[in-house]
Amino acid sequence: MKCPHCTVAFFPETERLGIGVDVEGFWNLAILRCPTCKKLILCLEQGNRLLGEVTPNLPALSGGVYNMTMREPKLSMVRPKGSARPPCPPEVPDDIKEDYAEACLVIADSAKASAALSRRCLQHILHDQGFKSDNLAAETDMIIAKGKLPSSIAENIDAVRNIGNFAAHAQEGIAVGEIVPVEPEEAEWNLDVIESLFNFYYVQPSIAKKKRDALNLKLKQSGKPAMK
Ligand SMILES: [Zn+2]
Repeated sequence: MKCPHCTVAFFPETERLGIGVDVEGFWNLAILRCPTCKKLILCLEQGNRLLGEVTPNLPALSGGVYNMTMREPKLSMVRPKGSARPPCPPEVPDDIKEDYAEACLVIADSAKASAALSRRCLQHILHDQGFKSDNLAAETDMIIAKGKLPSSIAENIDAVRNIGNFAAHAQEGIAVGEIVPVEPEEAEWNLDVIESLFNFYYVQPSIAKKKRDALNLKLKQSGKPAMK
């Protein structure tokens, strides 16, 4: 797995600390330590025990380890909080970075809030790239038509605009006040699309510029004209 703190990959060795048992199942704290940054990664683990099943003879609270009895445990990361994603590339402008970081931070608690922040982040990217109109749908159309994006990215951009967006569904018979649900996978997908835009518009051009600058310096040093 990749460390959610420093994103360096490592072979996970999990220790489990039993927290207790209640009507919803067994609760453990799963503990991993990253060998690179030395930080602990903590996950709350809930064993999937059905109601009415015979309760094993375990105390309500103990230091025991219940992982042997867990079926399909559900994990929620409590440290670091949020999505296990690499940090935002430094080339991305600060205001855009902020929306993205918050979209990652809230995803575990609210996929809907994360999707809303992803949408805002998309709009910031569109404006930063010069695609400005009076609404996000028109701006999305502009970037798809003129953004020179590879089709693998262009085909997914409209998902970010649509997922959880009430306005996008307003003409499709959804009553006012009705909430468009967002699945966690959809909110994650939004972040994937945003990351691919970061790479295309900010990271790759910066890498290409560094290479050009290095080559031009070499040409200059050998008395040749700079590349066109
Ligand atoms: Zn780490």
